[in-house]
Amino acid sequence: MTKITTKQKSKIKEKYSYGYALEMYKPFKYEEEKFNLKLEKDVYYIVRFDGKDMTKDYKINKEPINEEFFKTMKETFYSFCSSKKNIIFAYSFSDEISILIKGPKNSTIEEARIEKILSLYAGELSILFFKNAQNNRLNTTKNNVFDARIIQTSSIYEYFISRQAFAIDKFIMQLKGKFNIDYKLHTSNKVLKELEKKGIKYNEFPAEYRYGLIYNSKEKLESFEFQAQPLKLKKLLN
Ligand SMILES: [Mg+2]
Repeated sequence: MTKITTKQKSKIKEKYSYGYALEMYKPFKYEEEKFNLKLEKDVYYIVRFDGKDMTKDYKINKEPINEEFFKTMKETFYSFCSSKKNIIFAYSFSDEISILIKGPKNSTIEEARIEKILSLYAGELSILFFKNAQNNRLNTTKNNVFDARIIQTSSIYEYFISRQAFAIDKFIMQLKGKFNIDYKLHTSNKVLKELEKKGIKYNEFPAEYRYGLIYNSKEKLESFEFQAQPLKLKKLLN
């Protein structure tokens, strides 16, 4: 509950001054603190951004990939990640991006404020996406924005494997649509077998379509299947 104290009441007489404004706002400052969560020092966090309605808005009939959209997301992903020193590793597929960050050494600094990080980053991604979409002549019909959520987990390796599992499944299921494969088949093994029968070579699709995009601050990386190369992934996460 926000109550006006006697001290404030006396301050009201001094209206209007900065001191007056501060005094009047004081109880709300306390209310603000309730949501002012901070990143803990040296702790790992994953922030995931998701484009609102983008998969639906940029789907082209039975095409598994909308090339202009893919290009726009790719440019957005790399320029966003490379502009931030605190991103250790990042992964993107379709309209989502996950970044791995670490809480700053000094938890009282502004960069430790979770509300601030999530809103600024999501805002920045939305603007970058819009600019890149314009450059690529991607037909944007509405304001495409990203939401952001944060998790703190010790299972970082498993997290990225699980997000990639969604990516792999999504691409394979879209191939199923494109090549008229029985919609009831729902595992990759079964769909790949059917594709093979039709003479379609799954491995010849670009790796970034099949496995998503990877960012690491130290080196430029080719997309790869995380579960097939666990040591490589583990090294990148450290
Ligand atoms: Mg989405």
